[in-house]
Amino acid sequence: MSPSPVGRPLRPRGKLLQEDARRHHRALLLQELFRGGPASRADLARSTGLTRVTVSDLVAELAGEGLLEELGAPAETRVGKPPTLVGVLSDATHIVAIDLSPDDRMRGAIVNLGGEVKARHELALAGATGVDAVALLHRLATELIALTDRPILGVGVGSPGVVDAAGTVVDAPNLGWSDEPLADGLRKALGLPVYVANDANTAVLGEHTFGEGNTDGGLMLLRVGIGVGAGLVLGGALLHGHRAAAGEIGHVVVDPDGERCACGRVGCLETLLAAPRLRQAMAADEAGADAVLRRAGEQLGAVLAPVVGTLNLHEVVLAGPAELLDGTLREAVDATIRARTMPVSGDHLVVRTSTLGDDVVLSGAAVLVLAGELGVS
Ligand SMILES: [Zn+2]
Repeated sequence: MSPSPVGRPLRPRGKLLQEDARRHHRALLLQELFRGGPASRADLARSTGLTRVTVSDLVAELAGEGLLEELGAPAETRVGKPPTLVGVLSDATHIVAIDLSPDDRMRGAIVNLGGEVKARHELALAGATGVDAVALLHRLATELIALTDRPILGVGVGSPGVVDAAGTVVDAPNLGWSDEPLADGLRKALGLPVYVANDANTAVLGEHTFGEGNTDGGLMLLRVGIGVGAGLVLGGALLHGHRAAAGEIGHVVVDPDGERCACGRVGCLETLLAAPRLRQAMAADEAGADAVLRRAGEQLGAVLAPVVGTLNLHEVVLAGPAELLDGTLREAVDATIRARTMPVSGDHLVVRTSTLGDDVVLSGAAVLVLAGELGVS
């Protein structure tokens, strides 16, 4: 019997080389320790399906690189030689994580392998665009690197706009970037691995790895800020889309008689839901703030229902200002999606807000590097 084609790539993409197999097994073992915490070599052989010999080899290799450490035996050991536990050394290397989504500054952090922020630094944007904005990013990265004495695993950047798989910003009007090879430029300047992705796609990786949910069943993160964007993790992979623009739901027209959007069209979802627009509407509407939030939630739910119905998502996570999202608006989104989809779509659906707050993009920028360099997330 052949394995089921459900949930795996349908078409082979190339020959599997021996070194690919080794890299895969290395990532498998690291992933087990990354999610499950310290374990003995025997436990690792059991949970990964690798042989004891392969596990011992890989542990020796990773310990030699300083990524793993021996932690001694657990307290309650049975009769006989106690097994030695090994674990990921969280501060073995540090990651430079950068969030370019705020409209007034570039935010950065030094993050360790466990996702813990070790230092923060930011630079005011002061209206910089084009080459000036690129220079500012290079300065921020360089100044962040100086904040740690650990080796740097890589640099991860969440940028607004459409970003292709190579880390070129295809289009980011606010920063004046068009076909800007951001990852390539930073890589050459710093001599480090660099990963750049769209900010909402970066945010969903942060939620997937460091958020609170069980996100293996399909996760959509909707980011509400100056704009509205989304990112999706499906089948354990970040969804890019045909032209790297998956998740651009903020510019779906929901009200053809509505307000003009920054993209030039009229009545995009963003014109109702972007944080400044919501606050404006709440202040102006005589029916009260709650009514505005309920209406916005219903409109968002109506946009999301076909997506949930199509993809059978497990979780829809709202990320942005809690005072706007976590309450009436979230409840209206939840109720509207359920009312507009089959019970099988809505019954086990979780609609919640992110607990990562303002750091959701920074966390995701660290995951870009973790996943790219170590194969873990
Ligand atoms: Zn628009």
